[in-house]
Parts: sequence; structure tokens; C-alpha cells
Amino acid sequence: MLALLQVVVTLIAGLLLADFASGVIHWVIDRYTPGSTPVIGTHFVRFIHEHHERPHAMFQLLWVVNNAGFFILVGSLFGLCCAFGWLNPVTLSAFAFGACANQIHAWAHRRPRYLARIVRPLQRFGILQSPRHHGVHHGASPTEHYCLITDWVNPVVDRLDLWRRAEVGLSYLGLKPMAYARPNPNYVVPTATA
Ligand SMILES: [Zn+2]
Ligand SMILES: [Zn+2]
Repeated sequence: MLALLQVVVTLIAGLLLADFASGVIHWVIDRYTPGSTPVIGTHFVRFIHEHHERPHAMFQLLWVVNNAGFFILVGSLFGLCCAFGWLNPVTLSAFAFGACANQIHAWAHRRPRYLARIVRPLQRFGILQSPRHHGVHHGASPTEHYCLITDWVNPVVDRLDLWRRAEVGLSYLGLKPMAYARPNPNYVVPTATA
């Protein structure tokens, strides 16, 4: 019983760590990474920037194209962790969930009828990010709700005002955030009928 509890706690810790890391990556790309950045600009950053203009364009791409950016990024960090001996059950769990971040994000844009049965209840409990939760980032508050995996981390990060505080801190170093993403009152959260 104790071993099972340990596994569950490890998985949840990895899930939350991966969710926060997905928020950091998303925030850096949204606010500080131009599409003209060498190497990652064309094949990773532009997809994410364009996603704010046309959220459903991702469904016109091959599955592997949609997920390749996170796979490569997470794979590279995994290699670094291996090299420095930082792998443990929690970071392993975080890498597993982190590699799925953009797929979980894509599910938050899908109408329920297109989702596998197992996804819908997980979204309902916020274990996987729900369409309504992710809709906050695409709708009223594009500078909040950067984390992509669950419904649990964003409220804490946003309550702490972490992203804005970090931007104020970075502005003292001369780094100004980009301001291309605007609130979109017309964003429609996918539902059974929408
Ligand atoms: Zn964004
Ligand atoms: Zn999105």
C-alpha cells in the first residue's frame, strides 16, 4: 500500500513539475522569443505564435510535426539530466508528462466528440488541461495560464503573479517582453455543441 502511495505521489509530483516547466517554456516563447530566432524560430516558435492567431491550424499538421518541438526540447533536457546524474523517479515522471505537453494542449482545443473516452474524465478533473481552463489564455488573459498540462498549476502561478513579476525583474536587465498576443473576446471554448 505504501509503495502504491509512493508511486502516486511521484507521478503527481512529476506531473506538476512538468506542468510548471511547460508554462516557463510557453511564457519564454510567447514573450521573449521572436519567430526569426535561428534554428528553433521556423520549426517551433512560429508554430506557437501562429497558434494564437489560428488555434485550430494545429489540426492541419501531422501529429509528429505538432509534437516534435516538445519531443526534441524534452529529449535534450533529458540528455542533460542523464549527463549530470539528475535523474530520479520524479524527474523521470516529469519528462514523460513533459513530452506529452503539446498533445495534452491539443486535446484542450478538441471538441469532446473527437477525444478518446479516457481523456474526457481526466479533463473534467483537471488532471489533463480542460478546454475551458486553456480558453482563458486564448480569450481574456493571454498573459496568464501559460502552463499547458493540468488545471492545477496555473491558478497558483497566476495568484502569485509570477509571470508579471518575472517580466518586471527582466526589464531591469533590459529585456522587454513582446506584446503580440492580445485578448480575443471571440475565442470559442470547444464544447459538445460549439
Ligand atoms: Zn501562448
Ligand atoms: Zn492553445
